[in-house]
Amino acid sequence: MSQKLQPVRGTHDLLPEDSRKFRFIIEQALSVAARYGYGEINTPIFEFSDVFHRTLGDTSDVVTKETYSFEDRGGEKLTLRPEFTASIARSFISNSLQDSLPLKFFYSGPAFRYERPQKGRQRQFHQIGAELLGVAEPLGDIETIALGAQILKVLGLGNDKVKLEINTLGDTESRNNYRDALVKYFRAHETELSEDSKTRLAKNPLRILDSKDEGDRNIIVNAPRMMDHLTPNASSYFSKVKEGLEDLGILYEHNERIVRGLDYYNHTVFEFTTELLGAQGTVLAGGRYDGLIEMMGGAPTAGIGWAAGIERLASLIDFTGKIKIPRPIAMIPLGCPAEKEALKSTQWLRNEGFTVDLGYKGNLGNRMKKANKANAVVAVIFGDAELEKQAVLLKDLDKGTQEEIALSNLISALAPYKDSH
Ligand code: ATP
Ligand code: MG
Repeated sequence: MSQKLQPVRGTHDLLPEDSRKFRFIIEQALSVAARYGYGEINTPIFEFSDVFHRTLGDTSDVVTKETYSFEDRGGEKLTLRPEFTASIARSFISNSLQDSLPLKFFYSGPAFRYERPQKGRQRQFHQIGAELLGVAEPLGDIETIALGAQILKVLGLGNDKVKLEINTLGDTESRNNYRDALVKYFRAHETELSEDSKTRLAKNPLRILDSKDEGDRNIIVNAPRMMDHLTPNASSYFSKVKEGLEDLGILYEHNERIVRGLDYYNHTVFEFTTELLGAQGTVLAGGRYDGLIEMMGGAPTAGIGWAAGIERLASLIDFTGKIKIPRPIAMIPLGCPAEKEALKSTQWLRNEGFTVDLGYKGNLGNRMKKANKANAVVAVIFGDAELEKQAVLLKDLDKGTQEEIALSNLISALAPYKDSH
């Protein structure tokens, strides 16, 4: 085989450096979420295809064009999760959790979408996210957005890097009013719409507002506005959410272009966007989905949540000084009996919680070079002469100083170096 073996298009290996960044993001997010009372949830990465088809709807781009679906050997139709919300709603129903409301779930892991790979857009990508179930009050929206904002801030993504945009989709009545108005308007412009939007007009007219097509955009500019079709209730709900954000000092912009095409979304939708990543500028997106669980066959249960792309977060974050890698102690045996001794001491130190790098071969010069490359903080040199006295040489690699110590004192002599990074 002359061609180099490649990963599947749109997928990436996370080598240790990237993995450390991903883990950092997940751990920071999880620890903030824990302060809000969120517990971690892990659902399978694949579900019966119906979980996504029935919920995301057969008109959403994600389901019609982007899912990885297959039949397993038993003939079951399965789909790799393109997102987590539907899986979590399924889990809520499967585990009969309706008596434990309200519930707060935090998640992280891979998701899969058959999209055109480009910067910030993969076929296997990773998300962190949060779902709050059983809270139908504006306070739930406020708290959920505040959680997203705080996580971004802890990751170093404050107002200078991301901005919050919010919108409302209203309640069912507002939405039906609005849909009728939109259909009427777009029908009058049908011949000028893109092919995609013509299809959306028949199936899901709200989605047209999300179109990136230039021609569509010119028509959308003058389309009826949601704000003119809100019921008093929906309008007051949105005001309370905005007021709460203001009380917390969370800056936002009202962007009427933010929509979710799926029927189970209502009231608040929001996105944290950035201008630093080009076209793929949405880092965190969410909304209220009070209709989802009922649509899946569960009891009517309010829900709101968001998801953020870890890849996009990672490319925005300045990791300098954030990730602490322990500096190892380098064990340097010279000769054969020394190797046995070094191996035993290595094990002993590791049992005591030290980070130890046991060089595998080479002369003193070679091994010292490797120790420096590994950013070792101190080297323990096992020479024959010292070993005869049951001693070793300890070389501080930052200061360049060296002293002889008894093997039996190794742990206490190394204690000051234990948590170096
Ligand atoms: P976009 O408009 O960028 O396609 P979306 O509306 O499809 O986003 P959501 O389903 O709301 O995205 O997912 C939430 C977040 O997950 C996005 O804001 C983004 O950060 C990330 N994300 C979504 N799809 C991908 C992908 N294919 N590759 C990398 N990250 C992604
Ligand atoms: Mg998408």
